[in-house]
Amino acid sequence: MTSYVITPPRQAAVAVKGRDELFPVRRVYCIGRNYADHAIEMGHDPDRELPFFFQKNADNVNSSGEFPYPAKSSDVHHEIELLVALKSGGVNIKPENALEHVYGYAVGIDMTRRDLQAEMKAARRPWEIGKAFEQSAPVGPISPASEIGHCEAGSISLSVNDETRQQGNLNQMIWKLPEIIAYLSEYYEIGAGDLIMTGTPAGVGPVDRGDVMVGKIEGIGELVVKVV
Ligand code: MN
Repeated sequence: MTSYVITPPRQAAVAVKGRDELFPVRRVYCIGRNYADHAIEMGHDPDRELPFFFQKNADNVNSSGEFPYPAKSSDVHHEIELLVALKSGGVNIKPENALEHVYGYAVGIDMTRRDLQAEMKAARRPWEIGKAFEQSAPVGPISPASEIGHCEAGSISLSVNDETRQQGNLNQMIWKLPEIIAYLSEYYEIGAGDLIMTGTPAGVGPVDRGDVMVGKIEGIGELVVKVV
């Protein structure tokens, strides 16, 4: 048995609906500007340019139902996203085979320190400080694709304190799930345990301590997260 000089960090994991076993998390990939209306609200051209990705850390995944307001920001935004969980992977996966690698789907929120992200964008620096911070990826339980099928259409929405902020449909994604998986696999060896956050529709905005976010995706369910 392998031994370590310090106690190994806890394996990041997400609950699976109807199962006692957890889904172990390896990497978290996030696609940017994947809904035209959100690209426009962020000041970008909604044309179908090549997708781009950033990452969060596996241990940023947060299943606690609470989101602690992070340090060093006064403009923290919600981005409701369909989250894809992979059970296998590889390189140079063809779009027609891509969905075979999907274990299931969940409701996720890409919490963003928008002010820090904006500073990084302006300075042409990496986005991590705005995106990959403690508890920045609230995630609900994964629904296995073997039970619910693949999530290529259906409403996606987020409310804050019962007021609808974001409302869209998964079929509005500029890059579809098979294309996202195939494209990622050209640049990375993707694999079992990887999560992909697939972008957000328009209506992103700030939250404050005490707010309650409710994210919903048709066919998956809802995720309730309190900002603390
Ligand atoms: Mn996002």
